[in-house]
Parts: sequence; structure tokens; C-alpha cells
Amino acid sequence: MASSAYRNGAHGGSSGMKVDRPVQVANIKSSSFKSRLTPSHSSGSALRRSSPASFASKDGDGVPGRVRVAVRLRPRNAEELAADADFADCVELQPELKRLKLRKNNWDSDTYEFDEVLTEFASQKRVYEVVAKPVVESVLDGYNGTVMAYGQTGTGKTFTLGRLGEQDTADRGIMVRSMEDILAEISPETDSVSVSYLQLYMEALQDLLNPANDNIPIVEDPKIGDVSLPRATLVEIRDQQSFVELLRIGETHRIAANTKLNTESSRSHAILMVHVKRSFMGGDNIYSNENGDISHLAKPLKPLVRKSKLVVVDLAGSERIHKSGSEGHMLEEAKSINLSLSALGKCINALAENSAHVPIRDSKLTRLLRDSFGGTARTSLIVTIGPSPRHRGETTSTILFGQRAMKVENMLKIKEEFDYKSLSRRLEVQLDKLIAENERQQKAFEDEVERINIEAENRVSEVERSFADALEKERLKCQMDYMESVKQLEEKLVLNQQQRDFDVFTDSNCIGQGPGLSAAEELVELKKLLEKEIKLRKVAEEEVKICKRQQGQDRQSEAGGSVEVLKLHKILENEAHQKKKLEEEIIILRSQLLQLTFEADQMKRYLDGGGSGNAYTGLDSSMSPFRHPQLKDAVNGQKASIATLFEQVGLQKILALLESDDANVRIHAVKVVANLAAEAEANQKKIVEAGGLTSLLVLLRSFEDETVRRVAAGAIANLAMNEANQELIMAEGGISLLSMTAADAEDPQTLRMVAGAIANLCGNDKLRMKLKSEGGIKALLGIVRCGHPDVLSQVARGIANFAKCESRASTQGTNSSRSLLIEDGALPWIVQNANDEAAPIRRHIELALCHLAQHEVNAKDMISGGALWELVRISRDCSREDIRSLARRTLISSPTFRSELRRLRIEY
Ligand code: ADP
Ligand code: MG
Repeated sequence: MASSAYRNGAHGGSSGMKVDRPVQVANIKSSSFKSRLTPSHSSGSALRRSSPASFASKDGDGVPGRVRVAVRLRPRNAEELAADADFADCVELQPELKRLKLRKNNWDSDTYEFDEVLTEFASQKRVYEVVAKPVVESVLDGYNGTVMAYGQTGTGKTFTLGRLGEQDTADRGIMVRSMEDILAEISPETDSVSVSYLQLYMEALQDLLNPANDNIPIVEDPKIGDVSLPRATLVEIRDQQSFVELLRIGETHRIAANTKLNTESSRSHAILMVHVKRSFMGGDNIYSNENGDISHLAKPLKPLVRKSKLVVVDLAGSERIHKSGSEGHMLEEAKSINLSLSALGKCINALAENSAHVPIRDSKLTRLLRDSFGGTARTSLIVTIGPSPRHRGETTSTILFGQRAMKVENMLKIKEEFDYKSLSRRLEVQLDKLIAENERQQKAFEDEVERINIEAENRVSEVERSFADALEKERLKCQMDYMESVKQLEEKLVLNQQQRDFDVFTDSNCIGQGPGLSAAEELVELKKLLEKEIKLRKVAEEEVKICKRQQGQDRQSEAGGSVEVLKLHKILENEAHQKKKLEEEIIILRSQLLQLTFEADQMKRYLDGGGSGNAYTGLDSSMSPFRHPQLKDAVNGQKASIATLFEQVGLQKILALLESDDANVRIHAVKVVANLAAEAEANQKKIVEAGGLTSLLVLLRSFEDETVRRVAAGAIANLAMNEANQELIMAEGGISLLSMTAADAEDPQTLRMVAGAIANLCGNDKLRMKLKSEGGIKALLGIVRCGHPDVLSQVARGIANFAKCESRASTQGTNSSRSLLIEDGALPWIVQNANDEAAPIRRHIELALCHLAQHEVNAKDMISGGALWELVRISRDCSREDIRSLARRTLISSPTFRSELRRLRIEY
């Protein structure tokens, strides 16, 4: 009983219906009680088993569905049989034509057509199948459904609807049979059925399952047009038996009023509400095409729920009050009963006539049934009539009610909802699964992390182990090397000691305070050094032990592996450094040994030869200040051992020691270099190539230490014997360095070496000018202050060398100027020492004078300087024949000398 929107307008079922007038049967199109629009509802006793989802659309336009109306005739009862025995029934049924003839009198009758005409012989089963079953099927498909009985009291409404059939199952009414079908169809896992049972009496709704629950309010949802009774008892039905029991309880509560017409009849409307809820998975877009096939668009299924409601209404008797003979309270009661019934009649009239206003709200009954008439429910109405002509009027009005109801068109709609509860349940299950999965993955991840950790720890300890092994090996190797070196050194020391003791014993008088003592000192020094080394070694070993202990502790703690590795690295570096230092010291020791060996041998040879006690003295005209003729054999004798040491230690390492911070080391290193330079020209070449000359020059410049300077100068002097080296020495500023040393050195040995070096340079023709300009000659002349004959001898050798180069240049015509020696003031010293008692000096000067005299430009200076007299003396007295004749030739060949001699009347 909704708005006009639910009605079918001019088409459909209303078009052919006769209203309130005798039937012209040809106009009735619909002869079947069943829906034309739902083919699945075709006849057949079995319920359709299709899934709810396969049914029509859930919203939008509904399916037109006219209210179906059947008429049922009650058989004559005993009273009627007795009283009306002589009278014919007032109705005549033509069930095959679905027609009913209502006799007006003996000769006139009106004919009405219904959707179904059920005779007094119609079985309860058949009544159920034609009236209620299509509605039940619709309810199972998700539509609301209504089955209602209308008729005069005693005509069989309750018989039709509410019979329990406990004695005779064939008697079971529509309520019982409907529930049987519903329970058979639904699945208990997903679906549910629950019922309320109420009665409407004097406009009050009473709960038949709980009579104390009176005056239940009707709640309407205007949006969806739904009516509900939230306060009514709702009992979930699981089996038929409990349902029947429920009905019985309800029935006992039902208020029955006695009327004259029928002592059993009820004055109240009984309303059974069966709520069916079905869950299923469905898509959004499911359409039936023209052929009724169902096409599913590919969309994911979602949980849906369909809630439908079957309302079975056993109306109170429709008879008018006056006939019931009611009085007093009964009259009021009848009015109330009639209020709902008349409101129902008015609504149906309005709907049948497409009236603009449908007075739904006039009564509780019409409010409750708003969906059943003009709404979305499938509705079947059964009108019950009796055969008695005495009640022709009531029967007529009942038939006309039914005829009007047939014109009411409903719009069948499924109310489908999204099943949030089910979805939430499913999501919870999914969530639980995901949580479990996540937990599993978390665990797996943690396990993996732990595994990697253990692996890393294992690797770290493995590295630590192998590192410790390597360290230990390295330590052992160092120790072995060290022991070996110490052993060798000690052996050599013993050997030297023995040698020296022997020498001292054999010639103790000859050994002065000098070299013997110095060699002994060196030995003591060496021993000290060795002891120091041993101490250092012990400290290093102690450190290694500490490291090992530390490592063991670290391994136990197993923490900060990489930090430990770094520490160990550091320790290893320290060890390597230590090792390097030790190696250096071994080299030094070897150098020292080399030096000592060398010196000891020199000493021995010298003593053998009856020398004066200074190993460095005794140099004569030899070019090398180190090359004492007697030493030559000694040097040769030591060649093998020096060479061996040279090989063992390596020149680079020895040269590197020249720059050592330790003065002792420097001294020994420079001595070794000097010895090597003195030993062989091959060595000289190697030393120069390895940058030794530069290092020696640097030493000369940088160190105040006299010994270093002396030995360095000696080494340079030895290197300066070689012509190529001479140029290198000059190129590297050697002459000025030597000059500086010459100027401030006091030690005769140093001065001898410096003078020797310069003297060697003086013999180089190419360096003549440079030597003069860089102060070489002056430096040489400065050295004479020393007065030591060895030193003076070197000075004289230098002057002689220089004078020889000058005279060579003059003879070759490359020099025409006065002697640079004379320029630098050498002449007075030459003249003064020309007759020196030391033979080496005298001889060098005699040669120098002869060379100077070769060049005519020097003659005047020589004459004025007194050199002429010396030349004359040389030509007469010189012990060496060659020098004597050279002097003579020179005097004769020079015109200046000749004229001077003539002037002096010296006969030549
Ligand atoms: P109402 O409910 O309409 O007042 P009831 O269903 O109580 O009428 O029926 C009145 C009486 O008639 C009951 O005794 C019932 O058994 C009987 N009766 C009704 N219909 C039939 C029928 N179709 N066949 C046999 N007895 C019937
Ligand atoms: Mg009844």
C-alpha cells in the first residue's frame, strides 16, 4: 500500500478487471495464479532450487506483480446442513473456469473471475500450492511476501492458514507448510529464519509469543519503506517442530471472543512474520537477458545478504457488527476490528482505482501491510466464503473485496544489502592469516640475521686466527734472522779480538795511543750496541707476548671483531717497523764490522811495515790519500769480505744510513762508503750512480762533526780520482764546500783529505778556470797554515797539478795569460817551500816551478818573486835527473830568464 509509483498504471493486471460489477469473464487475461514474470514459478510441487543470486535485479525498477486472489468455499457445517438442507448454496463454483457464480435469486446470478477458485473439496495441500507456495518461493528469493485470508467469521480463514494438522497432516495449513518449505530450502550455515507472532486487537499490537509485551509500536523507515516491530519477540527457527510449538503457544494466547456466529472464531487479526536472511556471494552487475539467461559481468564477487519477510495475516471476521449481535464492550471491539478492516478496504479501493491518496496511516493494519498492497511484496489473498444463503450479503461483500484486491499492482523488489558483518568476518580471517604470515616472515628474517651474524663472527675469528698465525710466523722469522746476525757478528768480533790481541802482544811498543785504542773503543762501542739491540729485541718480544695475550682476551670477548683486527693491524705495523729498525741496525753493525775489519787490517799491515802509529798517515805521492802502497794488499786481502758485506747489505741501504739521525751510524756509514770508494773504481762508479757523491757533499756541508767531515772528504777525495767524478763534484758545488771545510777545519787529517780532494780536481784541464773562480786555489793555499807535512804535500801536489794543466794549455795555445796560481798569490809559498826538507813537498813544488816557467808571461813574476834562483838551484841540485834537465831546458828556452841570467852574470 504504497504511493502510486508502485502501481502499474493503465497496463498490466488492472486493464481487464471488473470492479464491483458482475464479471464479464472474457476480459480477464490472467488465468494463472502464478506470476507471468517469473517463469521459475511455474507449477510443480518441488521448490525451485536456484540460487538467490540468479533472481532478478535487486534494485532499480521492480518486477510488476499483481496481487493474486483466490476464493475458497467452506463446506457446509453441521448447522448449515441441518438448517439449510432445503436451500441451495448461494454460490456456485466453476473452478475449471476460475469463476464463481453468486446467486442473487433463483433466476439471476453474478459471475466473478478469480485467480483461483477453490471448492469445498480443495485439499489443504492444493490450497497451499496455488495460494502460498509462489509467495514462499519469492520470499526465499529475497522478496517480501504476504499471504492473507479475508472473510466472514467461520468461513475457514484460520482453518486455511493456521491449522497445525497435528492429528492429520493433510490438515496442515499455510503457515506450517510455508515453514516446511523454507526450512527445506535454506542452508543453516549461511541463512537464518526467525519469526514473530502477533495479534492486532482493538488497534493494539500484542506479542503472541509473550502476551505481556503489549502495545508494540510500529517503526517505519520512510526511506526504504520498511516496517518493523523492534520490540516484538523474534524467535529463530531451526526445525519444524519448534515452529509448530511456537504457533500453538501463540494460538493459546490469542484472544477469542465468542460470537453468536462461531464460538471458535477470533475477533483479532493474527499476524505471523517470518524473517528470512540469506547470505551469498554476488557481483554488482548481474542481469537477466531476454531469454532469461543470466550473464555475469566479470567483477569480483562480494558478500551480499538478502533479507526478506513473509507475512501471514489471519484477519478478523469481516462481517458487519449488527449481525454479530455484539453489545457493550463487544461493540467497541467490533468497531476497532472494523477500523482496521475498513481502512484496509479503503486502501485497496484507492489502489485499485489509482487514487492519488492511499490512506495507509488510518490504521495499524494498513501500516503493517504497506508493503503487501501497492508495495514491493508478492501478495496472495485468499477470500473465504461460506455456502449459506443466509450470509449472502457478507459473502457478496467478501467477493467484491477480493475482486478489488485483484486490481492492486505491486512492484516486486528484492532488498539486497551488502553483508558488512560477513565481510568483516572474512576480512578478520584474512587479517589473521596475514598477521600469522607476517609473524612467520619476521621470524624467518630474524633467523637469517642471526645466521649472518654467526657467519660474520666465524669469519672474524678465522681472520683473527690466521692473522695471529702470520704474526707468530713473522715474529719467529725475525727472531731467527736476528739470532743469526748476532751469531755472525759475535763470531767476527771474536775473530777480530783474537787478531788484535795477537798484534798487541807481538808489537806492543809500536802501538801508540791512536788506532789500537780507537779500535778497542770501537769494539766496546759495538758490544754496547749489541747489548742495546738485545734489549730492544727483548722489549719487542715482550710486546708480542702482550699482543698475544690481548688477542686471546679479545677472542674470548668476541666483541668488536673489526676493532680488534684494526688493533692487530697496528701491532703488525709496529712489528714491521721494529723489524725494519732491527734490520737497519744489523746493517749498521755490519758496516761497523766492515769498518773495523778494514781498520784492523790496515793496522796489522802497517805494524808489519814498521809505521809510525797513525793508520792514515804515510801517504806519499800516490794520488789517493787512502792508497798507501802497503795498504793495497790489505785492501785486496779484504776484498772478498768487503764485497760480501757490500752484497749482503746493499749500497742503497748504506747510503741511506749516511742520512741517519744517529751520529754514530752516520760515521760508520760514511767510513764504509769511503772504504768502498778507496777499494775499487767499480765501487766508485756504483756509489756515484746511487747518489752517494751527493750524499757525501751534503754531509760535508751539514755536519759539524769533524770525523764525519774528515771521512766524507776522504771519500770525496777518492771519488775525485776519476775524471768523470771530478766534473760531477764541481757541478754539485763541491769546490766551494771543500773550500769552506778547508777554511774552518783544524784537524790535519781533515785538511789532508780536503787538500787531497782539491789536488785531484786541480789535475783536470777542464776545471781550471772554475777552480780558480770558485776559490779552490785560495782554499788550497789557506790550508798551508796547518803546517803538517802530509797536508803540505797534498797542497804541493795540487799546485803542481794545476801548473801542469796551465803549461799544457799554453803549449796547446789555449792559454796566453799569466798563471792563475800567480794571480792568486801562490808564488811566495812556492818559492818559500821549494827547498822543503820533506821530499814529497819539494818534488811537487819543483815540478810546479818548472811548469810555471814554461810560459813566458810568468817569467817576470817569477823573477821578481825569486823563483829564478830556485829554478837554477833545481837545474843544478835536484836529485831527480828528469826534473833537473826539465829545469835546465826551461831556463834556456825562456828569453826573459836568459837575459836576466846574463844581467846577473850567471853562466848557463
Ligand atoms: P474463521 O477462522 O474464518 O472464523 P474457522 O477456520 O475457524 O473460520 O472455521 C470455522 C469452522 O469451519 C471450523 O470448525 C473449521 O473446522 C470449519 N471449516 C472451515 N473451513 C473448512 C473446510 N474447508 N473444510 C472443513 N471444515 C472447515
Ligand atoms: Mg478464525
